[in-house]
Amino acid sequence: MPLMLRERVSDDIYVFTSSLYAQVTAGAIKTQDGVVVVDTLPFPQESRQLVSFAQRLHPRGIRHVILTHSHADHVFGSYLFPGSELVAHQRCRDMMQRYGEASLAQAKAQTPELAEVRLRLPTLLFEGELTLRIGGKTLLVMQSPGHSPDMVMVHAKEDKVLFASDAVMPVPYLVGGSLPDMLNSLRALGNMPLENIVQGHGPVLLRGEIGEALDSSILYLEKIDHLVKDHVVAGRRRAALNDIDIEKCGKSRVPLGGLVQRLHQANLLYLYDTLVTAEKAAQHV
Ligand SMILES: [Zn+2]
Repeated sequence: MPLMLRERVSDDIYVFTSSLYAQVTAGAIKTQDGVVVVDTLPFPQESRQLVSFAQRLHPRGIRHVILTHSHADHVFGSYLFPGSELVAHQRCRDMMQRYGEASLAQAKAQTPELAEVRLRLPTLLFEGELTLRIGGKTLLVMQSPGHSPDMVMVHAKEDKVLFASDAVMPVPYLVGGSLPDMLNSLRALGNMPLENIVQGHGPVLLRGEIGEALDSSILYLEKIDHLVKDHVVAGRRRAALNDIDIEKCGKSRVPLGGLVQRLHQANLLYLYDTLVTAEKAAQHV
């Protein structure tokens, strides 16, 4: 079994990258008053490694766990932090309440390793944005919709590290979300003074890589938006979307063990369906 990757990206910040599921990430921020964890990983085996490492960082242990959004791969491990306040946007809790149990049951049916997982709902909720000041750290929790409507990012201001979650991935993933929102969210990141961006999946971005990574994702989204609109206008078949190659849209097919190609195909189908549905709705007005 490959070991989960653990990296220290600043004096007080550690990033964990799953070796079991799509290189999903989580983080631990050490403060003078205890530890704050960002996201909880899907597989208990790896979530436990995160818990035991983070607990040892400070005698007061893990004070808060911030969930970036409601998707399974970021929240399933939350039941392994019973003594910590579980912080999330109200919308994240709403979505977990609505879809969490069904998504967990479905995941358990496919993945025996999840048998023991229990859904734990967030306990400390906020709306809009949140500034958490704890033990000398300022953690700005900001909304960043696009990948999902409940998405937030965590900016560890003193460390200049942004936990961008799935707002930043090697290839943006839109299914269930919104392309215009994602473009706005990515464009808003351009001017932040950052040393690192922790992507929701894949490697940590270093300062020198951030600009290019954001630009290439913005270009990618603009390109697929364009191509799918042309496709619909020309009346081409949905299945023919498979011919739109990821590399023609400016992204490599290699990251996340090749998973990005599937994300890309799903993006195209999702955009197509969104456009066709909107067109039909317009005709019925
Ligand atoms: Zn994810």
